[in-house]
Amino acid sequence: MSLCRFQQVIKFGKPFLRPVIFNRLKSLSSEAQRQRLSALVYNHARSISSQAAAENSTETDYHSIINDTEKATGESSKFEFQSETRMLLDIVAKSLYSDKEVFVRELVSNASDALEKLRYLRSSENLSVDEGGDRNLEIHIGTDKQNRVLTIQDTGIGMTREELISNLGTIARSGSKAFLEKLKEKQGFDASNIIGQFGVGFYSAFMVADKVEVFTKSYAKDSEGLHWSTDGSGTFEISQAQGVQPGTKIVLYLRQDCREFSDDDMINRIIKKYSNFVGSPIFVNGKKVNVIQPLWTMEPKDVTQDQHAEFYRFIGNCYDSPRFTLHYSTDAPINIRALLYFPDEKPGLFESSTNSSVGVSLYSRKILILSKADAILPKWLRFVKGVVDSEDIPLNLSRELLQNSALITKLRSVLTSRILKFLFDRSVKQTEEFNQFYKNYGFFLKEGIVMSNDTTEKEDIGKLLRFESSTKEAGELVSLPEYCKRLAPDQKDIFYLAAPSRTLAEQSPYYESFKKRNLEVLFCTEPYDELVLMHLARINNHNLTSVEKEMRQNTEAEKADQFESFNKGEVDNLINYMKKVLDKKAFEIKTTNRLESHPCVVTVQDMASARHFIRTQSHQLDENAHYNLLQPRFEINPNHPIIQKLVKISSSDPELAELLTKQLFMNSMVGAGLVEDPRTLLTSMNELLAKALEKY
Ligand code: ADP
Ligand code: MG
Repeated sequence: MSLCRFQQVIKFGKPFLRPVIFNRLKSLSSEAQRQRLSALVYNHARSISSQAAAENSTETDYHSIINDTEKATGESSKFEFQSETRMLLDIVAKSLYSDKEVFVRELVSNASDALEKLRYLRSSENLSVDEGGDRNLEIHIGTDKQNRVLTIQDTGIGMTREELISNLGTIARSGSKAFLEKLKEKQGFDASNIIGQFGVGFYSAFMVADKVEVFTKSYAKDSEGLHWSTDGSGTFEISQAQGVQPGTKIVLYLRQDCREFSDDDMINRIIKKYSNFVGSPIFVNGKKVNVIQPLWTMEPKDVTQDQHAEFYRFIGNCYDSPRFTLHYSTDAPINIRALLYFPDEKPGLFESSTNSSVGVSLYSRKILILSKADAILPKWLRFVKGVVDSEDIPLNLSRELLQNSALITKLRSVLTSRILKFLFDRSVKQTEEFNQFYKNYGFFLKEGIVMSNDTTEKEDIGKLLRFESSTKEAGELVSLPEYCKRLAPDQKDIFYLAAPSRTLAEQSPYYESFKKRNLEVLFCTEPYDELVLMHLARINNHNLTSVEKEMRQNTEAEKADQFESFNKGEVDNLINYMKKVLDKKAFEIKTTNRLESHPCVVTVQDMASARHFIRTQSHQLDENAHYNLLQPRFEINPNHPIIQKLVKISSSDPELAELLTKQLFMNSMVGAGLVEDPRTLLTSMNELLAKALEKY
């Protein structure tokens, strides 16, 4: 059973599965696997028991304040909505929000605002019991599916007759904004707890309801109970009411096509989605729903590791613990409260796919705006999980607007640089941990370099990359800034060599010349490393140069005119001979003194892109066009025994010399990674062998 399958079993499993788990644990060979599985089982058991505890406790802790005591009494006065209000009402109800369900969020946010206002007044004005000095601050929601009714009631500040008229009668008139403005200068008031400020949220009720009733009683002394109602068409009515509890109760009569919003499960799901972190308890049909604290609003020092782990599993829907936690807040250039987690486990297949969304949700004042908010982090950071809360972002920003908002662009760039700085700090302060993280998530960083079009960002990601180096033991990793510190006196560039493995890199003819000159070379052994370094191009003002490119550019090497066993004339003849044999393939033939154990090598102008081209598109070209494009330069080592023999047999055995020359060239093409399928060489290789063995 794979670990993944196992996770599922445990997730949905029953106690009878315990022996299976036990046996599985015994059978695992690696300690790391055993630990991972044990953690998984433990966390799962914990989450089940806390779920059970929550369910049991709500059985006995049933608590609701919703009852039908309210009744409108006496004369009702009729009011007309102002004409712009009527127009706006239509817009809000029909098109401001992309999802209907957000009306629940809006009404809960209003209830929460009303509670926060009362909380503040209590602390600043010493309210009497009559004025709500000691009642519980709560939000209650009741669903009545049979009658298609949804009720949202709070024990907050309530409204007076005047407030009802001005706050609910005029669209875009926010009582909350006025409240904030009045208190701006006062000390000790945390404005961030108040959600509303645009004065349109309430009207979202008309997306789903054809009639809305409000019962309310203000906290102010001797307030009357009031009833407000409208069908949203053009007028609203206000009358006195009996049996009204302090606070506000909003009753929605849902349209036939929106009756799902009077379903208990549906409302629970919506509350959990948008309003899980609201500052006061929310009860749906008597059961408390929001149990997790909004950790990101707390002081980092007050949050324990266990709380982080629990929160991370809750929002990330996963079972591991975070490897790193970034709890961060700032007010400039934009308000941000962020809690971001970097996973410990290897990324799943799904996360690795570029189609998956980022794992960070966007909140404004603890209310969800968008889960998986793709616009607030670049795609390559999709493995980060967490919450970003910004007071500067209006709640009613729709999905489409989010993509184009300048505010979001700012948010994204601030967050990205903060994350990069954080990871860099980790790499310095927690090197071991960072290297583990890099092993699993380095792939995403590399994607970031290829995808980003911001050079500073590219460089910042570049500082996190790790490679093996010719100066270190196998398995040891170095960073690019570290390499820069060790540059040789005249060295300007950072040299790297892409090869499928370290062993192949070390045997490569390209590496040979660097070894001879004692230059450090980074070995890039992951498939896309050279593409990544090509995109990165520079770091700390040093070019990233492949050893092949350096070899092609370096002119020193061409001055190879000291030959062990021939004179210059013989070598020139050999080159002319080879030019004829390799016509239309080798565009240039030169001697080099940079090789030792290798007879020859091929260089092309830009090896990395050439290889990328061969891998992806070369099949579309015929052979001539292929070489025309690559323009290979063939460099030979005149001190190598094969080349020396070749000089001799070029006149005595021209047939063998020709086969040998062609084979040497093709071998070098394979060595350069420029031949897609080396099996194509077998025929010529056998021909050569047959010729060489003829005499025996
Ligand atoms: P906003 O919340 O952005 O101010 P809304 O349209 O959601 O705009 O609400 C308009 C105003 O109505 C609020 O500012 C507030 O003064 C008042 N209001 C709405 N719901 C309540 C409530 N449950 N208790 C007290 N006042 C409320
Ligand atoms: Mg509101």
